[in-house]
Amino acid sequence: MAIQLKSKIVNYELIEQPTDSNDQSTTSNDKPVEKNKAVKPDAEIIQMHEKLERPEMLLGSTYKIKTPQSEHALYITINDVLLNQGTEHEMRRPYEIFINSKNMDHFQWIVALTRIISAVFRKGGDVTFLVDELRSVFDPRGGYFKRGGKYKPSLVCEIGDAIECHMKMIGMIQDKNMDDCQKEMLEAKRKEYDTINNPHKQELKKDSENEISDFPENAQLCVKCNTKAVISMDGCMTCLNCGDSKCG
Ligand SMILES: [Zn+2]
Repeated sequence: MAIQLKSKIVNYELIEQPTDSNDQSTTSNDKPVEKNKAVKPDAEIIQMHEKLERPEMLLGSTYKIKTPQSEHALYITINDVLLNQGTEHEMRRPYEIFINSKNMDHFQWIVALTRIISAVFRKGGDVTFLVDELRSVFDPRGGYFKRGGKYKPSLVCEIGDAIECHMKMIGMIQDKNMDDCQKEMLEAKRKEYDTINNPHKQELKKDSENEISDFPENAQLCVKCNTKAVISMDGCMTCLNCGDSKCG
């Protein structure tokens, strides 16, 4: 299956740009081309690549980022191109990104960043590495805490989060959620912790639903998921958010 796909892409590019210096690949491609014809002449799978022409209309999603560092929110729009529409190989791939804000502080860097990210999107291939690259950027002034007790090391990190969220939505990144069993275990631990340390916590929580943190007030910051959700119980430090645990 994978071999078929590979040869078809090469075939496609050659048709698009016969003048390119791909002479070496032309000779080596003779055999795969024949194979393609034998399979299905109309089953050309189009992959994301930079020569792909931008369709007139693209579907997009906009993500809002609000940080305590600025009174103005940041709006991140990612537009997708739909490839192989109506076939079994139909896929949505990000094509371009725009970032808008009333806050002009970082304007030139943001424009530069969006252009480069868009160019990487159009190159095709596995572009999910962008998420990790952006999320590992730390603001030298120190990050900030979001609602829910989640620590963000920088604004760039949040742009990475938005891209990850988008890639999950279009199926480029598989959601590595905790399994139900682990969730149940953490929920039980948390109830136990609440009854021991703060019996009134549950009543309080109902009054102030969605307030600041879902986790115990004195929870510590988890180094793994950057959330203030680590509690100490039975000699172990357990993160109620991601389940990371250290004992002793
Ligand atoms: Zn954690």
